[in-house]
Amino acid sequence: MDENRKTDGGRPDAGPHFIRSIVERHLDEGAYEGVVTRFPPEPNGFLHIGHAQSIWLNFGLAEEFGGRCHLRFDDTNPITEEARYAESMQRDIHWLGFDWGPHLYYASDYFERMYQVAEDLIRNGRAYVDSQTEEEIREGRGTVTEPGVNSPYRDRSVEENLDLLRRMRAGEFEDGAHVLRARADMASPNMVMRDPVLYRIRHAHHYRTGDDWCIYPLYDYAHCLEDAFEDVTHSVCTLEFDNNREIYDWLLEAAGFTEPRPHQYEFARLNVEYTLTSKRKLSQLVQEGHVSGWDDPRMPTVAGMRRRGVTPEAIRDFSAMVGVTKVDKRVDYAMFEHAVRNDLNFRVPRVMGVLRPLRVTITNYPEPEDSAGAVEWIDAPLYPRDVPLEGTRPVPFTRELFIDRDDFAEDPPKGFRRLVPGGDVRLRYAYVIRCDEVVKDPESGEVVELLCTYFPETRSGGTPDGRKVKGTIHWVSATEGVPATVRLYDRLFDASDPEDVAEGGTFLDNLNPESLVVLEDSMVEPYIGTTEPGTRAQFERQGYFILDEEESAPGRPVFNRTVTLRDSWQRRQQDPGDANAAPAAEAGKGSEITTSTPAEPKGESEGDASRRKTSGRSERDGARRADPALEGAFSRFMDDLDLPEDDADVLSGSADMVEAVEAALSVHDNARGVASWLVNEFPREGGGRSLSETGLRGEAVGRLVSLVDDGTLGRSGARTVFSILVAEGGDPSEIVEREGLVQVSDSSALEGMVDAVLARFPEKVEEYRAGKTGLLGMFMGQVMKESGGTADPQATRAILHKKLET
Ligand code: ATP
Ligand code: MG
Repeated sequence: MDENRKTDGGRPDAGPHFIRSIVERHLDEGAYEGVVTRFPPEPNGFLHIGHAQSIWLNFGLAEEFGGRCHLRFDDTNPITEEARYAESMQRDIHWLGFDWGPHLYYASDYFERMYQVAEDLIRNGRAYVDSQTEEEIREGRGTVTEPGVNSPYRDRSVEENLDLLRRMRAGEFEDGAHVLRARADMASPNMVMRDPVLYRIRHAHHYRTGDDWCIYPLYDYAHCLEDAFEDVTHSVCTLEFDNNREIYDWLLEAAGFTEPRPHQYEFARLNVEYTLTSKRKLSQLVQEGHVSGWDDPRMPTVAGMRRRGVTPEAIRDFSAMVGVTKVDKRVDYAMFEHAVRNDLNFRVPRVMGVLRPLRVTITNYPEPEDSAGAVEWIDAPLYPRDVPLEGTRPVPFTRELFIDRDDFAEDPPKGFRRLVPGGDVRLRYAYVIRCDEVVKDPESGEVVELLCTYFPETRSGGTPDGRKVKGTIHWVSATEGVPATVRLYDRLFDASDPEDVAEGGTFLDNLNPESLVVLEDSMVEPYIGTTEPGTRAQFERQGYFILDEEESAPGRPVFNRTVTLRDSWQRRQQDPGDANAAPAAEAGKGSEITTSTPAEPKGESEGDASRRKTSGRSERDGARRADPALEGAFSRFMDDLDLPEDDADVLSGSADMVEAVEAALSVHDNARGVASWLVNEFPREGGGRSLSETGLRGEAVGRLVSLVDDGTLGRSGARTVFSILVAEGGDPSEIVEREGLVQVSDSSALEGMVDAVLARFPEKVEEYRAGKTGLLGMFMGQVMKESGGTADPQATRAILHKKLET
């Protein structure tokens, strides 16, 4: 990804791109009075992620330069189009956050005008009726190396041409009897210019014009005219239309459109790994029942993504991250997921859900009929510290609980920090429990229940008898929780390029048989189990989920997994032998709960970081076996510093690292903070180098964390400092001074920025006050942007609250 495209407050800005530069230059030169773009889908399917990028580009350009963007249904082909597709497209574009205002057009409304232009072209000698067969026309075209030959009908008189065209229109001929062709250049090196067909006869019913027409215009003819009729200035399309630009210009000139007139610009179409962006193929998946419909959450359609819980903001962010270029590429699926997580992280509450429940009975906790102890309501925060939102919800604690099966191991692998027979674990927000007895099904030997003791004094965070408790796990009350269906979605295809198939195969061979796993006996806490369909939340340690709007019933919620917390896919693909990767069908399983995400990597997915973390695991295990000092550091980092195993692993993989950690902690005692920079950020910034090959020193990391902890530096400022440290070394405080990165907490300065932002979005302010409080995140993002990332998020949030509530 382009490193220059700085991100602030989690909102990438579009950054400069070549089409925007062209528009900017044209407006500067006064070539046009204003910018007019269009988004011209053919209503023959649902919009997909590729269209979303085109929508973002075209509507975004118009928005940015104060112009307009038309929504035009390119419905010139009678065979495939349907009104329901046109309707779904309008809904999707609105959902993405764009509006065409009064500028909704249908190419089919221009049929009469297009026909009149065709007669004009004949009169000017620029078009003729050809009566060769399709086959003859194709042969006459020649090849790339040989020029074409003129049709024997090329020199028909104007009168004869007009007569034939009128009779074609009147329905006197069968399909294929004649076509109208441009009289362009049969010797042109550009095959498209060899007298392209403009009209063909098709006795077909059109979904809007009915049986009014039996001749229909082809793309090259129709598209440029539609643009010209609508005074479009910049007609943006994908690269495969490169060769068509010449006929676009030729036809507009032949039809008498003079400057300022529309021009065509091409950019690379968006392809995303593990998905398809072809309406035809997506339609096949629907028709043949490989998915449940166009809005199946596995589909790369806008409707599918919406149902899966992806936000419009994430799709827009993703479009900006991908950027607008001239080079075809297949974008990492991880980049898409990163955009999704990055957006959800800042807006959704954290809750607890147990996907595969294992019963836990707290034997020393009062029985339900003991009214005093029936249900204990624990007030738990909804957001981690680094998310500028607040709120709590009551979580019921009872004698009977469920934990996730994966959080208990009878035979724990090395480094397992969750519940084991005889061991302790902390239940998130609640007590430390000890597992006293494992109850098994006598027939199958399967573990069916754990009998545990709880330690009443540990509710506020203490440990029993000062013992060290290593792990924290999530849980749900068995009696107060809500039973739920959870659908775990994965990539629809298991090949990065689904069309890469063996000879004789089809893209269907690459369907991922595990793209959907349905869990029928999950349990969620009441706060999320009883909320409105369409609500999103993070299930701690599991992923982001949305309450399905179609299939949830009262008392029986259905959750769709939007995205995992980390990219488990790459772990599985690249590290099948990794002991930690194998059970982690969902990400985060092996890791402990952390309250905040101080250094979530930017510019790469968490998945990249987690893959790097785990992919070297066997190497690091080897290094530790060979060097007892490293092995000692591994245990010390987990036991004394209380770091998650994944982090301790990376930090004890080499003497370099261990030394850096110790140097950092000698300066500033915040192990989690230090770990997150070295574990998550360093691999990205360092680009595969070892610590000593970069400028980064342990002491500097300690100082950096201390500047963050004392509020001098905000998230985004800290990232800038870190990348400078890696590149050139230096002292964090000096870098902060030099680069002007001191966090702005001063309330009058922040108020000024907040006021500026609120003044810029009066409608959003109204919507917020009318109850759309989810907009807070958007306002936060804008203030962060305004401040170049230096605004103090806590203080900013408080000021925003104050100003918006009044
Ligand atoms: P499909 O094969 O999915 O039907 P299309 O290009 O034929 O794609 P249209 O409905 O004609 O679909 O496309 C509408 C607009 O969306 C066009 O301007 C096209 O350039 C753009 N578009 C379509 N697919 C992509 C993509 N993958 N990336 C970027 N833009 C796209
Ligand atoms: Mg098409």
